[in-house]
Amino acid sequence: MLFDIDEVLRTGAVEKTAQLDCDSIASENVQVKDIDKVEVQLRAFADGDVCITNSHVQTTVRYICSRCLSQFKEPLATDFQELFTRTQAAADEAEEIHFVKQGEVLLDPYVEQAINLVLKLKPLCTSDCKGLCPECGTNLNEHTCNCTVETIDPRLEVLKGLLSGDESE
Ligand SMILES: [Zn+2]
Ligand SMILES: [Zn+2]
Repeated sequence: MLFDIDEVLRTGAVEKTAQLDCDSIASENVQVKDIDKVEVQLRAFADGDVCITNSHVQTTVRYICSRCLSQFKEPLATDFQELFTRTQAAADEAEEIHFVKQGEVLLDPYVEQAINLVLKLKPLCTSDCKGLCPECGTNLNEHTCNCTVETIDPRLEVLKGLLSGDESE
């Protein structure tokens, strides 16, 4: 998604919408199966030599549950602001102002950065997902299995013995 800073600085304000492919989000994040087209609403205005852009981003992400590996979809929305300028002096005034040599700026990397900031790192299909059986791999949300998984810590067993010993005295 290209937008023209010169146009913003010349006319005072520009609004633009676009749909972006952000497939790199899925290829760079193992917990993301795929991501729908990203809707971007850009509102840019001029403040002296600086072009201020406010963007609203929304899409749907298909995550892979970090416990049971099932796939589920979830909406994602976020907002971000970026500042651009064509004059070096204005860029020197603040670190967050990006100096650009060409009038047209590609917004895609900024959109991807904003999505990465709000992406879930350990997605769960439901908050109480039971996960997979560590013995046989059965999805415990869907089926039960006959594995007996030893969950008692041997140190707790010793403690239990001591406690019951106390009781008998
Ligand atoms: Zn799950
Ligand atoms: Zn099992």
